[in-house]
Amino acid sequence: MSVLPAQALRLDDRFATALPEMAVPWQAEEAPEPRLLALNEPLAAELGLDPAVLRTPEGLRLLVGTTIPDGARPVAQAYSGHQFGGYSPRLGDGRALLLGELVGADSSVRDLHLKGSGRTPFARGGDGLAAVGPMLREYVISEAMHALGIPTTRALAVVGTGRSIRRETLLPGAVLARVASSHLRVGSFQYARATDDVDLLRRLADLAIERHHPSAADAENRYLALFEAVLGVQASLVARWMLVGFVHGVMNTDNMTISGETIDYGPCAFMEAYDPDTVYSSIDEGGRYRYGNQPLAAEWNLARLAEALLPLISEDPEQAIALAVETLKTFRPRYDAALTDGMRAKLGLPVDVDDAAVTGLVDDLLELLQANHVDWTSFFRRLAGAARGDAEPARLLFLDLAGFDAWLQRWRALGPDGAAMDRVNPVYIPRNHLVEEALDAATTGDLTLVEELLEVLGSPFAERPDHERYAEPAPQDFGATFRTFCGT
Ligand code: AMP
Ligand code: MG
Repeated sequence: MSVLPAQALRLDDRFATALPEMAVPWQAEEAPEPRLLALNEPLAAELGLDPAVLRTPEGLRLLVGTTIPDGARPVAQAYSGHQFGGYSPRLGDGRALLLGELVGADSSVRDLHLKGSGRTPFARGGDGLAAVGPMLREYVISEAMHALGIPTTRALAVVGTGRSIRRETLLPGAVLARVASSHLRVGSFQYARATDDVDLLRRLADLAIERHHPSAADAENRYLALFEAVLGVQASLVARWMLVGFVHGVMNTDNMTISGETIDYGPCAFMEAYDPDTVYSSIDEGGRYRYGNQPLAAEWNLARLAEALLPLISEDPEQAIALAVETLKTFRPRYDAALTDGMRAKLGLPVDVDDAAVTGLVDDLLELLQANHVDWTSFFRRLAGAARGDAEPARLLFLDLAGFDAWLQRWRALGPDGAAMDRVNPVYIPRNHLVEEALDAATTGDLTLVEELLEVLGSPFAERPDHERYAEPAPQDFGATFRTFCGT
């Protein structure tokens, strides 16, 4: 273990200092032969890090955690979580480390975190490692989400370790360096609550307020206000997922942030043909986290957060429950409002079209999309053409032409704006067959497809010449059997 001079990179240890009970000082495992596979130069620059320095051998050791800046205190974070509905009291960073916090010139605070950096005391049966494919997968999909304007953790780099790891076969190992506005999760609160130490719970809640929801500090009941703020950002986040067809795949309470950022890209994927029952994760046998169930899963997770916060909401348990339930009831209307606003924008409709008209139109559209197996992303892009007078490309997606034409007429009567639609409906999403193809190549050492995919997904709304294959749905034989695995 070597130490980088503090002037090269300064990391705070705010989490470790504020919540020592939830922070186990730990260090990364040696990486025999670090090799840079992907570096997010714009993000590095935004963070005040010099990409040229990160590319040096010393920089790579920093990105795999074997060199730490002077004064930094890497920790594995403790958390609990409901996984597919079952409670695990002790999860925590089994193969991850919080290196520390990066504090910007504007005082913004962001976590610098590693995934795949070796076993920690939370590793249970796991080897603490990660493979190149799943780490690049998180890089590609989280950066695509960011380019789509959806709150998410960011990927700073993926570094191959030079070590093989054992999965179904031997695979090359890698470490992902990730940046997040924090790694506080619903599961963090469940962990603190389970200790019965109300002071710890309060310190955690105060840190969450300070870092993510500072306006809650001025509320009459600041912890109820914290709950309400988390509920608000999550309602908005899940609506954003639904609008682009994103299926997270593993919405366990340890994978739901307090900040409202999307986190932990494991068995996630983007829906192609519209179907609320879409599920890609090989471990989600009951379809708990299927596309159409995501709002309910989020609400369920928020109920677990409320339970954890009860002792802070009121000293009187009955009163605490009543207040939490009353707030929880606002999730559905908030989610519905966010979804309706988003659908209004996707359909290019003016703001003065009232909610009921939008909802009616959307309900009928969804029925048509599902019955005709229409690709979600292509449809909205082609529909913008219909707003400009050429409905043929959109019509080609339907078998039930009479049904679609009747819908089209109602929609057109509301005066949709095609240019506005093109600003919110992406041409390019990380299509599953393209992601798999690029990751397979990367696993054998060829990064060109990953680089090209990242380039296209970085500007998802701008159609490019000669990039048709990036806009098309998967070939039929791929789509039907596609499953994603948990990235372990
Ligand atoms: P996830 O499903 O990726 O959110 O992970 C759930 C829990 O399993 C977390 O506590 C992870 O740290 C832990 N975990 C996942 N993969 C591994 C691994 N290969 N080694 C150790 N812990 C792991
Ligand atoms: Mg997780």
